[in-house]
Amino acid sequence: MHIARFYWNDKIQWGIVEGDDVYALDGGLFDDPSADERLCALSDARLLAPIDAHENKVVAIAANYGDKAGRDGPGIFMKQPGTVIGPEDSIIYPRIGVRIIHEAEVGIVIGKQARHVSVDDALDYVLGYTCVNDVSANELTNSDIGAGMSLRWKHFDTFCPLGPVIATGIDGDNLRIQCRVNGQTHVDGSSADMLWGVAELVSWVSDVMTLYPGDIIPSGCPGVDEIKVGDAVEVEIEGIGVLSNPVVADKD
Ligand code: MG
Repeated sequence: MHIARFYWNDKIQWGIVEGDDVYALDGGLFDDPSADERLCALSDARLLAPIDAHENKVVAIAANYGDKAGRDGPGIFMKQPGTVIGPEDSIIYPRIGVRIIHEAEVGIVIGKQARHVSVDDALDYVLGYTCVNDVSANELTNSDIGAGMSLRWKHFDTFCPLGPVIATGIDGDNLRIQCRVNGQTHVDGSSADMLWGVAELVSWVSDVMTLYPGDIIPSGCPGVDEIKVGDAVEVEIEGIGVLSNPVVADKD
């Protein structure tokens, strides 16, 4: 099932996308919903990021691919609410940007309140998955306080495209992840290569902070590459869809 947050009929709402149509939710968003009456054609709805970033948080995972190298778990950082944008919204290239990179990631969407959940139970707290582009200013990684702890590099406005939908009923630990820039494939990986899987990530984060329904955990990226003003960036994840965003100059 594909759950979408969208603007239609002068209001923001949640619904279910089936084929070319959007349906109302029968049941609560976090209460095993199904499709109710047809609302509109998908082409008549404007899809939004599947989160209200001022109500819910984006807790991102750092360095979840590659070499484990004796670590006890992955890094955690927050994407500030102003980073969140939806499908087709513009990624604003920072005025001070030098090397801006894309990070295509599976976003884990939380379905019920989670605190100190075990790895064994963690998947019960997952509603589904969405596409994330954890855009980053690579040259600022170590620039202000060093050792990869800089907040600036992850937190420019528009640096967290999300969407286009939340897919339920798929295995988040085995999804193909692709990132294309101007139609050219830059990354082609799989969440099967994550160092820590979905259940471990949810459990790990829930030992630090309470997770609430609607929170999203970007789970790390299998590869990065540079993006520039004028580019069109697409994150495609198997079973979810394609998240497309243009990159524009900061003119304000
Ligand atoms: Mg990332």
